[in-house]
Amino acid sequence: MKSKIAFIGTGGTIASIGATNLELQDYGANGVMLQASEILAKFPEAQHFADVFAVDFKAIASPAISFPEWKSLVLLCDDLAAKHPDLAGIVIGHGTATLEETAYFLSLTLKITIPVVLVGSQRPASALSTDAGLNLANAVRVAASPDAVGLGVLTLLNDEIHAARDVAKTSTMRLQTFRTPDFGALGHADGDAIAFYRRPIRRAYPNTEFDIRTLDALPRVDIAYSYAGADGTAVRAFAAAGARGIIAAGFAPGFTAPGDFTALEAAVKQGIIVMQGTRVGSGRTHKGKRLREAGFLITDNLTPQKARILLALALTKTSDPAEIERVFLEY
Ligand code: ASP
Repeated sequence: MKSKIAFIGTGGTIASIGATNLELQDYGANGVMLQASEILAKFPEAQHFADVFAVDFKAIASPAISFPEWKSLVLLCDDLAAKHPDLAGIVIGHGTATLEETAYFLSLTLKITIPVVLVGSQRPASALSTDAGLNLANAVRVAASPDAVGLGVLTLLNDEIHAARDVAKTSTMRLQTFRTPDFGALGHADGDAIAFYRRPIRRAYPNTEFDIRTLDALPRVDIAYSYAGADGTAVRAFAAAGARGIIAAGFAPGFTAPGDFTALEAAVKQGIIVMQGTRVGSGRTHKGKRLREAGFLITDNLTPQKARILLALALTKTSDPAEIERVFLEY
């Protein structure tokens, strides 16, 4: 018997229809984005691998996705799992722009136990040689795989399976854009098999301490991007806007320009949690003497956009820097 899989659509390139099949860049201008049921009708091959049913949710570009959609997705996944006790997994179609952020957020907050796989595409569903259909079919196969249980939220594009915590979009246009820079993919969706080779060890759903289901918003956390000559203006603006946390996306291996550093030190004195990360996309930061004396924490090896999510969730539970450090070591 085939496994039962739910396919939730949120929009993105995987849902987009351009004016012609050669429209590879400006397809958004055509203004046509499909709901999940329409995507599934266009790529019925996904049904070959599982009994897939569509859940129409949104059809929007992923730069517009943030906490309200994330909360709705958590509740929707709860609901699907409750209504379908035989559900084997959930696939979520998503724009690639914020796909890794939604994946990590869900990986930290879902309360269900079945696999959840985020899928997108680099070429619109209407394009010649689109990757939308095969990515969808492969995501369904991964979600139906018993080996995908307990790995946290996964992503599937270009035949590669990645862990939500570690994956990043690394190229604007290449099909192989989703990479895990330091560690590589967890496995592959090959023609003959879903093959896993590694398991992530950091905590992920359902074994997490975060429950956002009754929250209306996340605590404000901003990202201050460092560059030669940065003078702290952005940091001061974030503090004035009420940031409870600031991620310093600094130079590798973990510094900011002097003007930013002074502003960040002042932010710590105002009670804002400041975390030193890097803008380079891979590697850990290290809490050396200067950072310790300034009262900064470190983001471990999370990208600034992932550290922002984890800090915001940590701040829903605590403002204690020691507790926040523990969270960053466990997740
Ligand atoms: N504009 C798209 C988005 O919704 C990009 C994509 O899906 O690749 O993120």
